[in-house]
Amino acid sequence: MKVFYDDRQSVAANSSFSPSAEKPAKVLESWHKLDIPFEVCSFKPLTIDEMALAHDRFYVDGIMSLEELNGFGNQNPEIAAALPWVCGSMVAAALHTYITGELSFSPTSGAHHACYAHGMCYCSFNFLAMAAIKVHQAGADTIGILDLDCHHGNGTVNIIERLGLNYIRHYSFGEEFLKRGSDAEDWLMRLPDIVSSFR
Ligand SMILES: [Zn+2]
Repeated sequence: MKVFYDDRQSVAANSSFSPSAEKPAKVLESWHKLDIPFEVCSFKPLTIDEMALAHDRFYVDGIMSLEELNGFGNQNPEIAAALPWVCGSMVAAALHTYITGELSFSPTSGAHHACYAHGMCYCSFNFLAMAAIKVHQAGADTIGILDLDCHHGNGTVNIIERLGLNYIRHYSFGEEFLKRGSDAEDWLMRLPDIVSSFR
């Protein structure tokens, strides 16, 4: 499996309750220890223009210039420096899979609460939405986002609605979890239908 990873997407020195900024390096370290086979691929960081495909340009500029609080609620310059790489990893993996049909992986987290013009809950930029927009620009008619986090992907919903991205099919387990509670077996039975509904 191809893994789109660069050391510059991981930040160990972030003062936050959430460890998500340092997860990319830890995930790869753990896979190496477990002897899981994978190939690390290089990629380019996203530009500010590319990150602003999914966000208000003033918000993106504010985060990158450290004038706005990021999704962790701080102004850590290392987080700002990592964000183009974090977003670039997700976009590169999605484009690779779209173009080649091969499986790929982006060891990133902290996207789905990031809304069009503000971050929250440890999410600064919504690279799920960015990846969907870039894959659409590359020619895909519809793009599915299967979000299995226990929290509602409210930021993704906000961006889809705000930008009218009607080519994105979005499923948030967290949204359903709030309404129906958790029944893993029932959910696994319905998963094929959920994925089919993306077509
Ligand atoms: Zn969450």
